[in-house]
Amino acid sequence: MAKRRFIAGAKCPQCEQQDSIQLIIENNVERIECVSCGYKQTQTSRDAEGAAKGDKESIIGLFKPE
Ligand SMILES: [Zn+2]
Repeated sequence: MAKRRFIAGAKCPQCEQQDSIQLIIENNVERIECVSCGYKQTQTSRDAEGAAKGDKESIIGLFKPE
């Protein structure tokens, strides 16, 4: 069963829609798919996911309770 989730802030390289990119993990293969225009790309690295996570972590890091 494939896992799907949207990548916040990701922009489709084809139609340039923001937040329309889904990350799909199936059989340990990551790929991205645009729900707007149908653009598909197999992920060879975790760049897209890592970037999204990194952004979130850096934002949380700014609001550390003292
Ligand atoms: Zn697209």
